[in-house]
Amino acid sequence: MHSCIVLLGPPAAGKGTQAEFLKSRLGFQAPSVGAMLREQKEIGAPAGLKAAEYFERGLLVPDEITIEVVRHWLSTAPPVWALDGFPRTVRQAQAFDAMLADMAGNVDVAIFIEAAEPIIRDRVIHRLVCGPCGAILREGMHVASSADPCPRCGGKLGRRKDDNLDALADRLSEYRAKTAPVNAYYEQRGMLRRITGERPPEAVFADIAAALDGAPIANASTPQS
Ligand code: AMP
Repeated sequence: MHSCIVLLGPPAAGKGTQAEFLKSRLGFQAPSVGAMLREQKEIGAPAGLKAAEYFERGLLVPDEITIEVVRHWLSTAPPVWALDGFPRTVRQAQAFDAMLADMAGNVDVAIFIEAAEPIIRDRVIHRLVCGPCGAILREGMHVASSADPCPRCGGKLGRRKDDNLDALADRLSEYRAKTAPVNAYYEQRGMLRRITGERPPEAVFADIAAALDGAPIANASTPQS
């Protein structure tokens, strides 16, 4: 039996940060499909190189590639987990339901983290990522500049290639056209929980934890001390 949470929302709504909380506070594995695609590119896998032609320009990677990446990950998935950034099209949502059904599983809760576009733009401009440990940081808040070492592991900080205003404009229009309809898919099935992401990460996480309360997946998680 498999059950999972999916984290939905526009770019830079805070999905990655909340996935980190789900890992550290509730013990879920919560991988990011975007990170899986970037990793596939780094190791030179053909699917990753093809995917990079899309994600580096802010376009959604074709469904065939993302669905296969997720199918592969599912073959090693624990009984409960969260997924950050998938599904991003209705076709992915349908394929995901079918894959889970084959494993006698299902999506328990779809968390939709909302954030307005001016906030998204501001976050993208200031977002830094640690290469070695993957920490997501804000320039001017967690560190003064990208020249500083990662406060968590001392590693070198950088910016994602798609964190620029040109690519963001494309990511937002892809989001509006192809990903926003995924909310309706889960809403019609009574699974969608809307959370405002325009607040400090701790406050957003408190709402997510409350939304999970009572869901089957809450009983299956292993809280970390
Ligand atoms: P993220 O790290 O979640 O912001 O994703 C970065 C980029 O990876 C996105 O802008 C897309 O180009 C690609 N990507 C991630 N997840 C998906 C998905 N489910 N479907 C299509 N493309 C995706």
